[in-house]
Amino acid sequence: MNPRHVLAPFREAVIDLDAVRHNARHLAEAVAPARVMAVVKADAYGHGAVAVARAAVEAGVDWLGVADLDEAIALRGAGIDAPLLAWLHDPDARFSAAISRDIDLGVSSVSQLEAAADAATAAGRVANVHLKLDTGLSRNGIAPSDWPDVVARAAELEREGPIRVRGLFSHLSNTSPDEDAAQLDAFLRGVEVAEVAGLRAEVRHIASTAAALRLPDARLDMVRIGIGLYGVPPFGDGTTAADLGLRPVMTLRGRIAAVRRVAAGTGASYGYAWRAERETTLALVPLGYADGVPRQASGRAEVAIGGTRHPVVGRIAMDQFLVDVGDAEVRVGDEVVLFGDPATGAPSADDWGDAADSIAYEIVTRVGARVPRTHVDAS
Ligand SMILES: *Cc1c(COP(=O)(O)O)cnc(C)c1O
Repeated sequence: MNPRHVLAPFREAVIDLDAVRHNARHLAEAVAPARVMAVVKADAYGHGAVAVARAAVEAGVDWLGVADLDEAIALRGAGIDAPLLAWLHDPDARFSAAISRDIDLGVSSVSQLEAAADAATAAGRVANVHLKLDTGLSRNGIAPSDWPDVVARAAELEREGPIRVRGLFSHLSNTSPDEDAAQLDAFLRGVEVAEVAGLRAEVRHIASTAAALRLPDARLDMVRIGIGLYGVPPFGDGTTAADLGLRPVMTLRGRIAAVRRVAAGTGASYGYAWRAERETTLALVPLGYADGVPRQASGRAEVAIGGTRHPVVGRIAMDQFLVDVGDAEVRVGDEVVLFGDPATGAPSADDWGDAADSIAYEIVTRVGARVPRTHVDAS
């Protein structure tokens, strides 16, 4: 065994920051002249928010976006000073902490608008807000029936001083091209109402990765790119990262912990949900559902060992699962890739999403805390 082999971690998520920069540049080019907000919520979909945000800013993205204020505060704490928006708030969120750090606030209700204005007034500063119109998802966002009142109040607070409406935004359901177009129309009507009320927002934004790529009319002033930044296709229709010119950022891997030659009829893992049909070799992989490997993918997913695919057999357990490698020569310590760049022979995160009746978003985002993230940076 060579020394590198010996030092490879037992479990590891390798995060390729060059790929982040490539994807950011590639997507920025595709949507120009619209600007790009890199969405780094949920620890950058499990990839490490600070490292990914830095790489995205280096690649020229104009904005960063997160869900929670705490995520935004952490980025500011790491010295990242790009324009930054947070849009999902605790009812008791301390907006003063956002205002003092130049964090823009997504506003989904009149009470959030008033809270932002109060915090700004108390601090003697201006709160930059992006008013969010709900155009169909029925989640956060201002209800269409409340929109005229909220924009009128926002215009009043702009004139009085504590509020600046820097953005207007919404979010698409990705139900169908027609449904998305109807949401876009509803948004543009809302923008008009805001303009009539006297608001002149600098950025109007509605598209996330899927619409940024397939609904050019939705690009407006800016697109909010999450999953595409991580080199994962948003569509779930078989379109690959390579088809989109994107490079997968995360490789989830481990090292074989044990190898066992078993006779025909031997059961494996809990419930003996799988039994060997013939004599074969089982390799034990030290990742399980505690590490985000979905139990639902038991008996359905594949991994790559030395660039060759092998099936996952038996139940995926909390810490480990088994792979049937047949008569392949594998050894304890060999690298097992659960997912990564298909160009290397590995399955994609999308493949695991399919195997788990889920989506690749959930696969990358749920990699557990026990798996160390190793950020690699070729340049
Ligand atoms: C998560 C999120 C995005 C990013 O979506 P992707 O499909 O990952 O590009 C954009 N906007 C909002 C409001 C989000 O919550």
